[in-house]
Amino acid sequence: MNRVALLPRHGMTMPAFGYSDDERFARVFRATWKRLPLHVRRALLRHWRTPCSITTLLRQPVIEVLPFLSRVDDPCAVGVCRQEGYEFQFRSDAVNAMPDDALAVLIAHELCHGYFFSVQHPDRTGDEFEEDMVRETLGAWDFDEETIDEWYCAHPPLIAELAEASTAAKEPNR
Ligand SMILES: [Zn+2]
Repeated sequence: MNRVALLPRHGMTMPAFGYSDDERFARVFRATWKRLPLHVRRALLRHWRTPCSITTLLRQPVIEVLPFLSRVDDPCAVGVCRQEGYEFQFRSDAVNAMPDDALAVLIAHELCHGYFFSVQHPDRTGDEFEEDMVRETLGAWDFDEETIDEWYCAHPPLIAELAEASTAAKEPNR
């Protein structure tokens, strides 16, 4: 499996599965990373250097672009952060369809969840409240979630397709 450099200075790479233009994803990821406040980047790097308490096998964050998010119920979800901020998955069909600016907000959104984990943030509630806090925090970091909202609104057929594709994948025998 080829890997693509994500943050070369920190030895971070991602698998090049080829479901998306992985070089482009990595480029947008790097540009997004640079826009995060320094203390946020430091908190995440510190967190990722500490072995994950859930999966001790994870010694660096796992960042993947895949056709489907595993273990996610919301069929419209296009990104997820879990394993205490060590695992990030993005849906390739959404990544491929999104312009760079919307993709940057999506990446920043998931990294913000990871940041909440890294600092044991009190807003890390795992529910709608956390989503609101992510949105607010992103605003403070100068990322505008409206960019994604507008993109969604402009692509309702695609969103419906995403939902349908996930449902179909989960019920292969139907
Ligand atoms: Zn979220």
